[in-house]
Amino acid sequence: MTDSYTRLVNTGITKTLSKKLGLPRPAVLRRHRPGEPLTVGPVLVVSDAASKPDADAVAQTLLGWGTDVRREPSDDARWGAVVLVVTEAARPADVSDAVLAVGSVLRRLAPNGRVVTVSRAATDGDSPELAATRAGVDGFLRSLAKELRAGATGNGIVLTGGAAADSTSALATLRFFLSARSAFVDGQLLPVGPAPAGAEDAPVDDDRPLAGRVAVVTGAARGIGVAIAKTLARDGASVICVDVPAAGEGLARTANAVGGTALQLDVTADDAGTRILEHARSRHGRLDVVVHNAGILRDKLLANMKPEQWDAVTAVNLASQLRINAQLLEAGVQGLRIVSLASIAGIAGNRGQTNYGFSKAGVIGHTRATAPLVARLGGTANAVAPGFIETEMTRTIPAVTREMGRRASSLQQGGLPVDVAEAVAFLASPATVGVNGEVLRVCGQSWLGR
Ligand code: NAD
Repeated sequence: MTDSYTRLVNTGITKTLSKKLGLPRPAVLRRHRPGEPLTVGPVLVVSDAASKPDADAVAQTLLGWGTDVRREPSDDARWGAVVLVVTEAARPADVSDAVLAVGSVLRRLAPNGRVVTVSRAATDGDSPELAATRAGVDGFLRSLAKELRAGATGNGIVLTGGAAADSTSALATLRFFLSARSAFVDGQLLPVGPAPAGAEDAPVDDDRPLAGRVAVVTGAARGIGVAIAKTLARDGASVICVDVPAAGEGLARTANAVGGTALQLDVTADDAGTRILEHARSRHGRLDVVVHNAGILRDKLLANMKPEQWDAVTAVNLASQLRINAQLLEAGVQGLRIVSLASIAGIAGNRGQTNYGFSKAGVIGHTRATAPLVARLGGTANAVAPGFIETEMTRTIPAVTREMGRRASSLQQGGLPVDVAEAVAFLASPATVGVNGEVLRVCGQSWLGR
């Protein structure tokens, strides 16, 4: 469901015309198809001198993934990706050569190519030089992502807490950023820590990372929830689809499509968490993943906001998630992976959405606070913040506002529900246990917010 403008400027005579007129030409993004290569061409791995051992380890892993890996820039390749490893760079001058090596191949980066940085987070104990170098990489990546064209993206892995560049979680993140699964993730820096003590941290089957796992998806009758249920099932999970009784038809359709079970449940019910757990244990024997996707809009300027509009949005989008999480933690569910749907409206704010903005910023707040609680049981809590996604919800936005929402990003288009679903599946995977308490934006590097 690419939008019609993107279709027009990428096909036939209108493609030629739009080129001549110099109109913005959003690219057709490459999306994951089983069996296709990880990248669209060879991968160049470059580093500063001190980070060479980490770069070697990354290159070795890429070879194991069947990728054509090169260590020197050259003119003969149409690059699929460039990985810049600067984990041990200590002074700003250390990164210059490696960064300029990235620059030297950008003109030959293939459409839908990838640039991924691997660096370490600046911390309070760093010397000013070290902190400048580490923080500098973040600014470099965000700016570079805005220079890339033709569906190419730039994202960064920021190692924290002494995590190794070749830890399971860091490599799973590298794979995600390189792959077509992250088509609409752009300009993002994701902190990746070491696996907490006692947490399962073993390599997983890249094609079916969720095999044997049981996942619940709320709001699964339509929109993004359907895509999440399908993507988790594709990755091997048994999926419990939850939605309100009024959406029973769509709910049954999704559950049938994914070979899962349907649970008609209003997530605002006092005992929603307990009922989800009972259903999971009685029908599937376990519960591993919870995706808080159900959400509503009741847009109004605050001056016109009725109590029921404020209350409904906070009850569905926020209070339900708090209650369900509390009940699952109380029951001591081990290794639980919680993924909550936030929104860039919760980061940047949006006129007419004080209630929605409160609820989505609240989701980010509780995700950070829930992370250490769930980590004690070997689990994680993360949030996905979508930007403009092509759904029934966004089709109802007035045309001019909708068009602005689509184009105001580095990728100059809206994302698809599957883009959000891929990010959810990535965060639900057993391989990403070192990513905890984070917010991953799926927004094509929207101009809104940071
Ligand atoms: P949607 O309206 O198409 O689907 C939401 C689903 O949630 C519906 O099936 C609905 O019946 C269900 N639901 C609502 N209240 C419920 C309740 N009390 N109990 C159980 N189910 C309930 O919305 P969507 O566009 O697919 O959005 C999904 C999530 O993504 C939401 O949390 C939304 O805020 C978030 N999001 C969407 C976008 C976008 O561009 N579409 C952007 C940012 C964030």
